[in-house]
Amino acid sequence: MSRTVFLIGHPLRHSISSAFQQAAFDHCHLDVRYENCETELLQLETRIRNLRQPSTLGANVTIPYKEKVVPLLDELDVLAARIGAVNTVVNREGRLLGFNTDAPAFIRALRQDAGFECHGKNAVLLGAGGVARAIGFALVQEGVRCLAVANRTHERAEALAAFLSGWCGDDTRVVTLPWEGLGHAPSDYALLVNCTSVGMRHSMTEGESPLEANAIQKGALICDLVYNPEETPLLKEAKKAGALVLGGLAMLIYQGAASFELWVGREAPLDIMFSSAREVLR
Ligand code: NAP
Repeated sequence: MSRTVFLIGHPLRHSISSAFQQAAFDHCHLDVRYENCETELLQLETRIRNLRQPSTLGANVTIPYKEKVVPLLDELDVLAARIGAVNTVVNREGRLLGFNTDAPAFIRALRQDAGFECHGKNAVLLGAGGVARAIGFALVQEGVRCLAVANRTHERAEALAAFLSGWCGDDTRVVTLPWEGLGHAPSDYALLVNCTSVGMRHSMTEGESPLEANAIQKGALICDLVYNPEETPLLKEAKKAGALVLGGLAMLIYQGAASFELWVGREAPLDIMFSSAREVLR
């Protein structure tokens, strides 16, 4: 029987997941189709209920439903329950299980692609939306020393900092920074992660960087979760400042590979996923 995996979100036109997931299924000779499923909020409950059909392996969930989907599932794994957000749903014989593969994928990208260890380092997080929650959680669990959160809407930065503070060990603290004062951000950070959509191709902020080179710490690792374009305006500014850079593509592929493995129980072909994603981005 042919099986299907859906991508549930809105809007989906920027997503490249269907390209690299389909390439992975085809490469592994699996009779699985990965289909984008544009979903309005009013349709969400029905869409999720339909995932229980035997022909459906599960789904990826993206903007803006990663948190809204939680109460519609039967069970959450520990990480998804703690973060309060799900990006992967698995249909196990009619029961829907929720996972979060964003947080481990980010840490994997930091270690594997940038050789960076967070423990005991200072970090800055730009943004307080869905993905910032997962990344902030991963960073405090890894034992960063101080995590400074800045967001255009400051109340959301405060709310995220309060949530993250509840998961900090004794040697970790979370503070907020004013978005307008970012140019004067603390100069002793080793890692800065852009979790906003600023700089994303085809968006209102295409071509913009959340920080100019003169506000970027030389020698720090600047990580942009925006993956389209692969070299974002922020990464260009970071290079000018003499910082190290990591783009969002590695995390995107690692979170997708972890989802693939949850759906089909076999190792994901990373090389195929990277090459098909790059082909689409070009
Ligand atoms: P989201 O929940 O919609 O959050 C968007 C964030 O961007 C909010 O913090 C928002 O601030 C901020 N923002 C939007 N426009 C802005 C502007 N003009 N100036 C300053 N801040 C602005 O989205 P999300 O799910 O967190 O995703 C955020 C980005 O991460 C997207 O570009 C997405 O593609 C990318 N992403 C990448 C991966 C990956 O694997 N590489 C995974 C997930 C997401 P306000 O709170 O003030 O609105």
